Amino acid sequence: MTDLETQCCIAGGGPAGLMLGYLLARQGVDVVVLEKHADFLRDFRGDTVHPSTLQLFNELGYLDELLTLPHQKTERIKVTVSGQEFSLADFTQLNVPAPYIAMMPQWDLLDFIARKARKLSNFKLLQSTEATGLIENGGRVGGITAIGAGGPVNIRADLCVAADGRNSCLRAASKLPLKDIGAPIDVFWFRLPRQDGNNSESMGTANASGFLVQINRGEYWQCALPFLKGSADHIRLDGLAAFKTRIAAIKPQLTADVAALKSWDDVKLLTVQVNRLTRWYKDGLLCIGDAAHAMSPIGGVGINLAVQDAAAAARILGPVFSRGRPEIRNLKAVQDRRERAARITQAIQITAHKRVLVPALNAGKHLDPPKILKVINRFPQIQGLLARAIGMGLQPEHWQDK
Ligand SMILES: Cc1cc2nc3c(=O)[nH]c(=O)nc-3n(C[C@H](O)[C@H](O)[C@H](O)COP(=O)(O)OP(=O)(O)OC[C@H]3O[C@@H](n4cnc5c(N)ncnc54)[C@H](O)[C@@H]3O)c2cc1C
Repeated sequence: MTDLETQCCIAGGGPAGLMLGYLLARQGVDVVVLEKHADFLRDFRGDTVHPSTLQLFNELGYLDELLTLPHQKTERIKVTVSGQEFSLADFTQLNVPAPYIAMMPQWDLLDFIARKARKLSNFKLLQSTEATGLIENGGRVGGITAIGAGGPVNIRADLCVAADGRNSCLRAASKLPLKDIGAPIDVFWFRLPRQDGNNSESMGTANASGFLVQINRGEYWQCALPFLKGSADHIRLDGLAAFKTRIAAIKPQLTADVAALKSWDDVKLLTVQVNRLTRWYKDGLLCIGDAAHAMSPIGGVGINLAVQDAAAAARILGPVFSRGRPEIRNLKAVQDRRERAARITQAIQITAHKRVLVPALNAGKHLDPPKILKVINRFPQIQGLLARAIGMGLQPEHWQDK
């Protein structure tokens, strides 16, 4: 058994946990981050770095360096419905240092944050170390139990943070109240080869055969195919050939490229969850990111909300650590700052599920473009507003060193 002591112990080395760990350490707080995997190489988490997150990196002084990592720029979001193209959001209208979504592999982003953090002597990242539970004394959380490569580890901390994602084990251990909002869709997630000279923008294509999202990742398209929840087994039973035919029916240009899908192992299932804690904290414990609010993939906002949660928590709690351990009212201040953005974003996602996606997936023989798309397409000002809502979020967070 190894015993450690720190000011803040964070479970989860995803966007929320690493960013919070780095920003607290940058303010002189002693931090230990636990990550159950040995590295960040997991291809199952999305790659969108939004203008708000890029702006935060600019405020930290790292934007130019971050953008030396391989990425593709998405300046506009477009969707093609039954052959008609509609512009939905135009990020070039945003007055920010990087007015686009940077499509960057998430492991590169996490590696970048971890490299910056490791330069600080008061930051420690324990990889291959899985949080297993909370150490509680008289109703107060005082630490985290974990299993590392060398056996069990107990980490005592003034504050513990659950940033261990949407299946958070610490959230479950805390018994904080979770509101399950539910989602009517799940998503198949796969790669198809991308030929040079293909349209460089990421895009969505919908018709009576379904809806396909393609994210430009340079050599390949990262593709997402939403479908009605509960039908994954039926789709698989119909066979891979039928699945490929369906993709080609949505996007005939991909007819040859679908041959790249050799087995169902090449097609990952993302079970969409939408939920949130009604209370993000208890004495000694705070939940942030997906652990506090799992988002639908609509808008690709999950990474960005997680980073914004981290920035707000670090800004609010950093100065508190210099005076002692954070109290419940400090943790409440983090929820008060961030909950509204998560709640309203989820409400917009749920509306998009009900009004756009589910009707499109149930369209039958013909899919007429919804009227709202025609209105948005006609007015560039609305595309600018949507770019602000998606790219900056409802509560963008900023950073200034004290
Ligand atoms: C297939 C897929 C596609 C997505 N696409 C996008 C997208 O394009 N854009 C977008 O913004 N969002 C996307 N998302 C959502 C996005 O990945 C999340 O919202 C975001 O990563 C949340 O960040 P987080 O740090 O809160 O949690 P996570 O990214 O889930 O990170 C949690 C971390 O904790 C670790 N962990 C878990 N349990 C433990 C434990 N017990 N002990 C120690 N470590 C633990 C995990 O290994 C992980 O590294 C996608 C999600 C999926 C599944």
